[in-house]
Amino acid sequence: MEGYIHSVQSLSTVDGPGVRCVVFMSGCPLRCVYCHNPDTWELKKDKAYTPFELFEKVKRFREYFGEKGGVTVSGGEPLMQGRFVSEFFTLCRENGIGTCLDTAGSIINDDVKELLKHTDICLLDIKFADEESYKKFTGGSFYQTMCFLELLKENSVPVITRHVIVPGINNNEAYIKEIKKITESFPNIIGSDLLPFRKLCASKYESMKIAFPLAGTPEEDDGEIKRLYEILKS
Ligand code: SF4
Repeated sequence: MEGYIHSVQSLSTVDGPGVRCVVFMSGCPLRCVYCHNPDTWELKKDKAYTPFELFEKVKRFREYFGEKGGVTVSGGEPLMQGRFVSEFFTLCRENGIGTCLDTAGSIINDDVKELLKHTDICLLDIKFADEESYKKFTGGSFYQTMCFLELLKENSVPVITRHVIVPGINNNEAYIKEIKKITESFPNIIGSDLLPFRKLCASKYESMKIAFPLAGTPEEDDGEIKRLYEILKS
């Protein structure tokens, strides 16, 4: 079998614990208004690898991973190619490389259920905390994300939740309080990251000749992120 890979970032310190090699899978069923990677949306546009070929590529960076680091598979939405990621993670773990899944939890099927058995930690992007906003700003379902979170709990996968904070959309106390409720209800959630909305991706939209829905929205202020963290931790 083969998986379609958009790109591989050799080393990162912001995509899970420690130093990690990040694999960006192609394909995503969502269309988030703030998406930083619109170039990953289409599934079969990119280079195809077998799980073994991908493993051979990432294992070259192993000496940098240390005890905490390893591989992070991101996207796009890696769950679109759940079976491929599952086989890739199996190879990584068999060879002592830790596995991290960076996902919006937007797909549940047998391949995804199998994948969670080979996942050491999950970065779960919980984009909005109500069905209406989730649908409006991503095209997806909040309920679906919560079902995926339940599945992570059943599989005892530790989770760090992630939330892109956008001025005028979700940079408010009500949203943070909903997030707090969720994090307190799931014992497998070990942390939460609030990520300020940025517009570095605007040039990607330009080169793809598609409109960036938030072109007129200001970037999120770091002071506001600090304030929201305080509410989250209170
Ligand atoms: S889930 Fe991620 S890759 Fe997909 S549209 Fe949303 S931000 Fe973009």
